[in-house]
Amino acid sequence: MGSVGNAYLDALGIDRWVPRGAVEEAATLAIPPVAPKVSVPAPVPATAPAISPPRAAPAPYQRGPLADDWAGLRDQVAGCTACEQLCRTRTQTVFGVGNERAEWLVIGEAPGAEEDRQGEPFVGRAGQLLNAMLLAIGLPRDTVYIANVLKCRPPGNRDPRPEEVSNCLPFLSRQVELLKPKIILVVGRIAAQNLLATDVPLARLRGKLHHFGPADTPLVVTYHPAYLLRTPADKRKAWEDLKFARATYARLIGGGSA
Ligand code: URA
Repeated sequence: MGSVGNAYLDALGIDRWVPRGAVEEAATLAIPPVAPKVSVPAPVPATAPAISPPRAAPAPYQRGPLADDWAGLRDQVAGCTACEQLCRTRTQTVFGVGNERAEWLVIGEAPGAEEDRQGEPFVGRAGQLLNAMLLAIGLPRDTVYIANVLKCRPPGNRDPRPEEVSNCLPFLSRQVELLKPKIILVVGRIAAQNLLATDVPLARLRGKLHHFGPADTPLVVTYHPAYLLRTPADKRKAWEDLKFARATYARLIGGGSA
């Protein structure tokens, strides 16, 4: 494996040292060359920008029919005032970012301070680790779509409140309808429990194939990268989850098990 592959392993905290005789374990941990069986979506042609530019002065939006196009939905999110506190404390909404033809959708919990400042999900330290996690399974950040359950930062990074989740979830559901991803990778307990409408602990949601929404989109759960930064010992389990997600995707697109 080249130094680039090693960098992904390092970011995931996966040791490259393998005890003599531990061949099987080494095989499990080896990161294959980038994108072995995972077909990375082709870059979107220049005529159709993958990322819609932010639009100014959105009309206030409370509730009502959701837009059925990306630009209209982005405007509705930007003008949303459904959560009394969040719409006052946010710098801006964080709609989502990425390739609007992506086959992978990554869903996190809510924007943090840096995301609130920049208007893009996962741009802080956790975002750096998320990028490395995705690369480890052959997915450069710009080949996936990334969004959060909440589009506004909860002040002080508190947990999203149930009413905030129910206000915001329709936006995410419409994003799923527009994107039609082949697979959803959910990072973190809060996002996973809200999307799956369950109280089951993350440890029991990992390693299983779930489904989301009317299209029954396959959904795989792993740890939140911010948690992994605090608890590096669990990076190895996250790597198992990522391999499971990659194998699931490969099976779904008919590529056999990865
Ligand atoms: N954590 C999340 O869940 N989402 C972000 O966008 C950033 C940090």
